[in-house]
Amino acid sequence: MSEKKFKRSAHVVLTSHSKQLYKSSLKINWGAKTPKERGPVIGSLTDIKERNAIGTHSGSYSVYRALSIAQGSYKTDHRPDLHNTESPVKIGPYASWFDPDKMVSIDPWGLDVQLNFKELYDQGYDIRPTISVTQAHLQLPEIHDAIRAGRLKVDGKIVKENMDIKVTKVALEPVWYLPGIAKRLGVEEGELRKILFQETGGMFPELVTRPDLKVMLPPIGSTTVYIFGNPADLADSKVELTCRVHDECNGSDVFGSDICTCRPYLIYGIEDAARTAQRGGVGIIAYYRKEGRALGEVTKFLVYNARKRQEGGDSAATYFRRTECVAGVEDARFQELMPDILQFFGITKIHNLHSMSNMKYNAIVKSGIEVVNRIQIPAELIPADAQVEIEAKKAAGYFTPGEVKKGDALEKVKGRPIDE
Ligand SMILES: [Zn+2]
Repeated sequence: MSEKKFKRSAHVVLTSHSKQLYKSSLKINWGAKTPKERGPVIGSLTDIKERNAIGTHSGSYSVYRALSIAQGSYKTDHRPDLHNTESPVKIGPYASWFDPDKMVSIDPWGLDVQLNFKELYDQGYDIRPTISVTQAHLQLPEIHDAIRAGRLKVDGKIVKENMDIKVTKVALEPVWYLPGIAKRLGVEEGELRKILFQETGGMFPELVTRPDLKVMLPPIGSTTVYIFGNPADLADSKVELTCRVHDECNGSDVFGSDICTCRPYLIYGIEDAARTAQRGGVGIIAYYRKEGRALGEVTKFLVYNARKRQEGGDSAATYFRRTECVAGVEDARFQELMPDILQFFGITKIHNLHSMSNMKYNAIVKSGIEVVNRIQIPAELIPADAQVEIEAKKAAGYFTPGEVKKGDALEKVKGRPIDE
């Protein structure tokens, strides 16, 4: 095999080197009133002198990009042509955009950078979007069932004649303002930076050598938002708002695996969000890439086996304990950062929150958003094998207006054996 030719300099430049302190890189004033005062986050690699952030764009996909470059099929000097890529709807700016504490894990000005930072962009700065917006139609079998059952009606606007649901989709890559993340988690910034460096096997030396760089583009999953109705209504507290904040569960969401309630709860959220939009309200589904309580799918499947093989079989009484035994923690999702996505849309009041999780509820309320009603998943939508999960969660204090099983009754809630 012949060696591929690279455009990029052949010698490796350590990012921690003192010569990397470039005077020409633009300042970031997190929470400033205008894009001009705030300054763009520049994590692109076409001109390292411009960079003012740790890491690079595209979250976890930055690693795939590196493979593609190594293979020779991706040009390192490619700059995106952003002509015609702007959002089809207007989002913000809202008061939350100017509060450095309200959003610490996304960059609101990362939307339509070619417009927000036009002057700098036209000067040739390689500023990349971290948020994008588009419109789409959803075709979901459960939604078709809901229409046939009369729970959702065709109105030609939200639900089309062919049973498609019209939505606005928003993709948001993580942009971490490290002082804000530290404050939110209640740790010192220096300590946070040190642990992030150590626990990634020393991935980004600037975390410890460049305290002047306050923004990081972490190589982790993004968030996708689906909006039903007018996106501008999300910021109007007088308009009824239905919201589901959903953490990724590939097995259930995509493949219909029946050990949990993830897909049924997600689709019920979509159905109710569409219904809310039809009666003049607005709906939002936020989908966070935090597979298996942010422990990952490998850990998740190990836990499933441990649950099903334990003495007495899979039981609601031992549901959380088995996760902790394998993973070291019940849940690693840290809902503290989750409300940032809701703040981006200027949300101040949620009339119907589709979630039974107290962690999610507490994080949303703590971020200053009022929650009126909490909506649990209807009993008839819970798969038989997922009774263990739902009863365990209710027993652990998850929201339910219904009965909470304890003791013997909880022990009796059993899942399928491992070999069935
Ligand atoms: Zn699940």
